[in-house]
Amino acid sequence: MRELHPSETDFNRFGDWACQRIAVGEMVVTEMRGQRKDGASIWVRATGRQATGVADSVDVVWIFEDVTERHSAEQALRCAHDELEQRVLERTTELSGANQQLQAEIFVRLQAEQRIWHIAHHDGLTGLPNRTLLHDRLEQTLAQAERAGSRVAVIFLDLDRFKAINDTLGHGVGDELLKHVARRLSAVVRAVDTVSRLGGDEFVIVMAGIAGPEDAAVAAQKVIDALAAAVTIEGHSLRATPSLGIALFPDDGTAPLHLMKNADTAMYQAKARGRNTYEFFTQRLNAETERAFTLEQRLRLAIEAGHLVLHYQPLVDMETRKVASLEALLRWNDPEHGIILPGEFIPLAEETGLIVPIGQWVIAEALRQNRRWQEAGMPLLPVAVNLSPRQFRQKDLVGGIRALLAETGQPARLLELEITESTLLHDLDAALETLRELDAMGVRLAIDDFGTGYSSLNHLKRLPVHKLKIDQSFVRDLCHDRDDAAIVNAIIGLGSAMDLHVLAEGVETRDQLAALDKLGCRQYQGYLFSRPLPPDQVGQLFNPSMLGCIATEPDHTI
Ligand code: C2E
Ligand code: MG
Ligand code: MG
Repeated sequence: MRELHPSETDFNRFGDWACQRIAVGEMVVTEMRGQRKDGASIWVRATGRQATGVADSVDVVWIFEDVTERHSAEQALRCAHDELEQRVLERTTELSGANQQLQAEIFVRLQAEQRIWHIAHHDGLTGLPNRTLLHDRLEQTLAQAERAGSRVAVIFLDLDRFKAINDTLGHGVGDELLKHVARRLSAVVRAVDTVSRLGGDEFVIVMAGIAGPEDAAVAAQKVIDALAAAVTIEGHSLRATPSLGIALFPDDGTAPLHLMKNADTAMYQAKARGRNTYEFFTQRLNAETERAFTLEQRLRLAIEAGHLVLHYQPLVDMETRKVASLEALLRWNDPEHGIILPGEFIPLAEETGLIVPIGQWVIAEALRQNRRWQEAGMPLLPVAVNLSPRQFRQKDLVGGIRALLAETGQPARLLELEITESTLLHDLDAALETLRELDAMGVRLAIDDFGTGYSSLNHLKRLPVHKLKIDQSFVRDLCHDRDDAAIVNAIIGLGSAMDLHVLAEGVETRDQLAALDKLGCRQYQGYLFSRPLPPDQVGQLFNPSMLGCIATEPDHTI
């Protein structure tokens, strides 16, 4: 034992500790560091106990085992274990970090998905359900009503004259008004009903649990009342009166789209009946819609079959006593119905977009016809062509006109374009741009039906136009109605101040002519001089005996 201990002190300390236990009969088992004879350090397992039969002295028997190898194996194992634990700890922290990040990402993605869903199903301006969501809700509501055997009302709502508010007061005011209407509509219906905005000023309300038409009528009146009070936006006091069309499930249809279409048809009827009112869908309305549809089909066919023709009406200049230009007026020469006037199909063509190809054809044909007349030796005259609002806004109108002029070899100054005031109001800046380009090309520009639109003098000042055509409604009662006379007088004054030609439309009688002459008007158009004529009769206008109405003064050259 002594030899195992590196020093005497170590040995003694160990001896004291071991002997105490051995003396009381315990067996000592311990492992300790020892030293081999060659000085190498080893681990020793020492087992000691008292030798038997010796009473008064402590004789101890020791057994030593070299356990160095086991120790180092254990040590290595411990190290490996510690290292492993450390790695596990690190990995766990790492994983829990990743997990937290993943959770956060999932949350953000869920939120984004919800947001996308909301955007895809709601109207950005008012936050109301949009067409997609309306369709889903309507389908659900109809399915429930079918099971319960109850009725559903689909109400189509359109604001009266919203476009005028938008055009004159600006989109900002229009948007505010729409938001306001959305709030009032949402407040007036029950929580289970759906109010949605389809776009523009069109809203659809779906009401479930309706007993019959009376119920729907009460609801519709409530909606009208809810919108009745004026609202002040940017200092303007505005009243958003609606027109409502109602279709009932299952009476007027069972499919969502069918019901919506019928409610829409009824809404148009309400508008036609005088606005700020509601109308129920009826089969009679359906028949009318179908007529409009067949009219559209027939018009398409007429375009293809070349049944559209132009008639020409002279615009007369009393200064020179000559025909100053010829206005091309569209006619539909239907083999079955005869001549159909533009008032009957231009609005539909405008609505369906057919006006764009039609208008293109009108310009081309008017230019071609003018060339034919020139070739036949008729005096060189400008032709005037009417442009509808939609046509005026069409992309590359100017480029198209330039190409047609080149194609027909006509100088730009022999083309006059007539547009109405409302055409200009839609987007004044864009209109101005188009007008300036046309003006720069040399095309002449006239404002048609002047006095009927919302013309601001400020606007007029900026427009490069050459002529104002006083609307025939002012000419009609000119001789009896002092207001009309005052308006005509004002327009003539305006024209001369702005150095524009002023022409009176719809002159039918000599009295009208005399009154206009007295007010200082010098250019006229009307049945008094000539009705619109087919191209082959236009030559007669240059025959001195024509336009005989002016024969009061014998030396007229017209
Ligand atoms: P507008 O441009 O103001 O044309 C004048 C209208 O008044 C023509 O009707 C003409 O026939 C009619 N009129 C002429 N003199 C008299 C008269 O003394 N008394 C009365 N009561 N009426 C007279 P029309 O041809 O039926 O055309 C109506 C409107 O249709 C035109 O009004 C114009 O706005 C539009 N329109 C005609 N042709 C075209 C076209 O090619 N394209 C487009 N976009 N619109 C056209
Ligand atoms: Mg015209
Ligand atoms: Mg006119």
